[in-house]
Amino acid sequence: MTHKPGYYSQFGGAFIPEILAATFEELCAAFEGAKADPTFWAEYERLMRSYSCRPTPITFAENLTRHFGGPRIYVKREDLNHTGAHKANNVMGQGLLVRRMGKRRVIAETGAGQHGVATATMAAKFGFECTIYMGEVDVERQRPNVFWMERLGAKVVPVTEGSRTLKDAINEAFRDWVSNMDTTHYVLGTACGPHPFPEMVAWFQSIIGSEARRQILEEAGQLPKRVYACVGGGSNAMGIFSGFFDEPGVELVGVEAGGLGLKTGQHAARLSGGDASVGVAQGYRTYFLQDEDGQMRETHSVAAGLDYVGVSPILSHYKDNGRVRFESATDAEVVEALALTVKKEGLIPALESSHAFAQAFKEAPSLGSDQVLLINQSGRGDKDIFTVADAFDDPAWKDFIKRKAAHYEAP
Ligand SMILES: *Cc1c(COP(=O)(O)O)cnc(C)c1O
Repeated sequence: MTHKPGYYSQFGGAFIPEILAATFEELCAAFEGAKADPTFWAEYERLMRSYSCRPTPITFAENLTRHFGGPRIYVKREDLNHTGAHKANNVMGQGLLVRRMGKRRVIAETGAGQHGVATATMAAKFGFECTIYMGEVDVERQRPNVFWMERLGAKVVPVTEGSRTLKDAINEAFRDWVSNMDTTHYVLGTACGPHPFPEMVAWFQSIIGSEARRQILEEAGQLPKRVYACVGGGSNAMGIFSGFFDEPGVELVGVEAGGLGLKTGQHAARLSGGDASVGVAQGYRTYFLQDEDGQMRETHSVAAGLDYVGVSPILSHYKDNGRVRFESATDAEVVEALALTVKKEGLIPALESSHAFAQAFKEAPSLGSDQVLLINQSGRGDKDIFTVADAFDDPAWKDFIKRKAAHYEAP
């Protein structure tokens, strides 16, 4: 796909401080070594089988299919992974790589806390030291995740710089890395950042797509007409799409956070919103939501995991060459799609994943019953209880939730 390693047409690259150059070379070499060594992938598959329920199944959504009266709808069940989302695929893979490099300490950034919990879980399993950087504001908002990270043995460092949220946590994690390169690996959480992270994270997540391709042929007897995945940084989307890139008949649809609506500016639609521009930040070139001076804009989504200013450089490339179509779903559409899915199928998708369901539901009525749709359920929605109860606007639940939330927030 690319000529220069780490570039996807004009996107990607590795814009890193000189001091980290040797560390990135070491990481690239370890990654290339792992890719060339078939025993590495076999060990990865064995680990994921015994520790994280892989292969995750696909589920025929029979009632939703009947409800829309059109294509057969199938769901890839990444929610069944240990810790509740596809994030396990990436962190466990990087854990094996850290062991291969002979390092014994991992660090990570986290916003909503999901990637922090996944990384702390991996560190506990492998016996690594672990430090998680988290904006002070997010530490307050996510007490339950902080509780589990600490029980898992991680040190959670509240970041008090800047806006005290995700991007400040990323800066702090890079600062730590620069001082501790010899012992420490930075476990980046999605298919973004400097090379080799986008390619490496996408490689670990490709386990989703290779399973899904085999499973849909077995269960549905044909390839899907369309595959839907939500897009935050882009890792679950890259994961499931990778099973179908070589099939020109399969349409790939990435769904971003439309937030309060594209016209309000309160969204995280970088590839579907029409108002992002190409820039370099956080070590890589991609489409960012930024103003004319290159200042990053505030983004908004009901789903914390999609609330990010950048996006995978690999997906920016597929946006420009047209291989992936990008759409957005608003907060309101997403909550409605979630409610329907819970009621009809007994599945509880994460608010992030519900973006993919919402877009599939918009398109299903115009497709024939001879066709097949595949939706990636990237994670489970139990974590979203406060947000969803709030959105459903039920006064009795609202009061209960408010009291519970206050309880969690008290330090
Ligand atoms: C973190 C998260 C996402 C967004 O990350 P990607 O890298 O875009 O996949 C999506 N779904 C769930 C459930 C998540 O936890």
